[in-house]
Amino acid sequence: MNLFDGALQQLARATVVSPISDALHQRLLKPEREITVAIPVGMDNGTQELFEGYRVQYNSLRGPYKGGIRYHPQADISEVRALAFWMTMKCAIAGIPMGGGKGGITVDPKKLSKRELEEISRGWVRALYPVLGPERDVSAPDVNTTPEIMSWMADEYQKLTGDTRNATFTGKPLDAGGSEGRGAATGAGGLYVFEALKTKTKLPTSVTVAIQGMGNVGGNAAKVFHQHGHKVIAMSDSKGGIYSEKGLDPDAVEIYKKQNGSLKGFASAEETTNEELLELQCDILIPAAFENQITKQNASNIRAKVVLELANGPTTTDADDILFKKGIHVIPDVLANGGGVVVSTYEWEQNLKNEHWNEDEVLGKLRKLLERESLSVWERSKKLKTDLRRGAFALALERLEEALEHSRS
Ligand code: GLU
Repeated sequence: MNLFDGALQQLARATVVSPISDALHQRLLKPEREITVAIPVGMDNGTQELFEGYRVQYNSLRGPYKGGIRYHPQADISEVRALAFWMTMKCAIAGIPMGGGKGGITVDPKKLSKRELEEISRGWVRALYPVLGPERDVSAPDVNTTPEIMSWMADEYQKLTGDTRNATFTGKPLDAGGSEGRGAATGAGGLYVFEALKTKTKLPTSVTVAIQGMGNVGGNAAKVFHQHGHKVIAMSDSKGGIYSEKGLDPDAVEIYKKQNGSLKGFASAEETTNEELLELQCDILIPAAFENQITKQNASNIRAKVVLELANGPTTTDADDILFKKGIHVIPDVLANGGGVVVSTYEWEQNLKNEHWNEDEVLGKLRKLLERESLSVWERSKKLKTDLRRGAFALALERLEEALEHSRS
């Protein structure tokens, strides 16, 4: 099953426990618009290469399309469509005035020089700028896209349109109009959601955590959980991971990875594969890398008490059911990783108002929002006697239904 079919399956399962109008259902089965573009890049060796880029504008009932741009060799329109659908749900669950969108380029950014990377990023904007903008579609980082890439894109957009509000791209560096707290927001948001649901999910005050993925999301999640007194027992990157019962220091692991290119040989830790990491005994398992990691093949081997999804789409529907039967709570991506897009939306607001909020203000607002919405999701799942994913979708669907009614009156 491709990722988008999986996403629509989640929607179908949610509407069984929490019915929606036909009109809304129609609006959620298809994106409002999707665009595939060819991006020409003059390569360092003198040749020209064409790369395929995408933007899926899934739904705008609640506001401008919002969502990141992913650079990956396996990125394609169907993956981006699923991710854009999830952004629609995520923004509604967070209660922010945004719709859902997502972008991508099929490319392995590790094979590009810095100049080529800048060229392809500016090329994405040149191909798509007429459909972007602060009131229309606001992009941000996702897998393999960085604050620096956002600053190139923002600059290109400004050059092409003359719009100096700087609110079409979020996740920018601080000195280019970024928000305090945006870098750590998804990881920190994960901690706030976990803390809000800690007693409900019967977790101890201090927990053991295994984290798959060391990008911006996984890396920051490790640091934030460690800083708050939890024990990070496993971390991994795309090549493999390390495990220590005594706990790892995420800052030291990050420095080691920078110096050595991988985690192999990290002192006083055992090596583990990405697959083994998922099956470790721990309180919280955090998939923070890619989709389809927990499937019907390995779900029955999961030994965590709670799965906190910081990646998008890491658990398949079959796996959801297996975990639910085992009594393992899955805190779904559309709630758990909402911290990124919420702080992106704060950045957009600061840019439009020409303000700069301090980090305490940003993270304080984020914590309050995620605590509130986590409890709303929990209550819905209890009321509907279902899992947290369907509880979260139910909340999103209520808000989308309201927006649809509003748009007609
Ligand atoms: N790419 C992130 C996500 O999947 C953040 C999106 C944003 O900041 O707009 O939620």
